[in-house]
Amino acid sequence: MSDEALIVLDKVNKYFGPLHVLQDVDLSVARGEVVVVIGPSGSGKSTLCRAINRLEPINSGTITFDGRPLPAEGRSLARLRSEVGMVFQSFNLFAHKTILQNVMLGPLKVRKEKPAEVRERAMSLLDRVGIGNQAEKYPAQLSGGQQQRVAIARALAMQPKAMLFDEPTSALDPEMVGEVLDVMTSLAREGMTMVVVTHEMGFARHAANRVVFMADGQLVESAPPAEFFANPKSDRAKDFLSKIL
Ligand code: ADP
Ligand code: MG
Repeated sequence: MSDEALIVLDKVNKYFGPLHVLQDVDLSVARGEVVVVIGPSGSGKSTLCRAINRLEPINSGTITFDGRPLPAEGRSLARLRSEVGMVFQSFNLFAHKTILQNVMLGPLKVRKEKPAEVRERAMSLLDRVGIGNQAEKYPAQLSGGQQQRVAIARALAMQPKAMLFDEPTSALDPEMVGEVLDVMTSLAREGMTMVVVTHEMGFARHAANRVVFMADGQLVESAPPAEFFANPKSDRAKDFLSKIL
């Protein structure tokens, strides 16, 4: 991890009508840093992730990515989206395309890269997430854990500078959670900058550089995992931890 910030949120505010879902949120994520975001349902974690790749516009404050303010539209927005990979709870793979086609689609269509190069990279990514031998299958033929690993490979195919994960294991059967967390852990060890919303406290303890606790739209605490779990400072964090640990 370097000292240089890749993602910087400065006094970010976001409203949905009267609902103030992000309240003066300040967050700086260094290159190579892994930040795990935890907090109760409805606290604004997904909105925070979506704001970072501008799936949600914000009402005030600034977000910069790699030294530039987030673009509002056009080609620079498309470039931002390719530089910030996102993995959701639902895998959103194209059902009528093979696993390999799913992974190749972004680089071919968005980035207009050469098919042979894209194919090679896609295959090596599928190997990396342990799905290389399933490349010609269709999503429905794979388990949920395998589909989520394909979704990770698909995001990586765009060669992102950062990866956002929004509860990537919440929709999985329990026995498949581990295989997805293993892929995320190795990605973290390889130095990928990651923002991960998850309820998997084991992952937070072992893979995160920092845990950020959100409640009611506010970023309440931010600390290394050992410190956060041993000594949460706010009552809200203590209360949250007492319910999930
Ligand atoms: P979390 O991911 O922490 O559960 P969210 O970011 O999804 O929280 O939501 C924060 C709050 O914003 C919640 O009260 C939610 O109901 C509300 N919200 C989220 N998306 C929308 C939307 N598109 N329109 C209106 N309200 C929304
Ligand atoms: Mg959410």
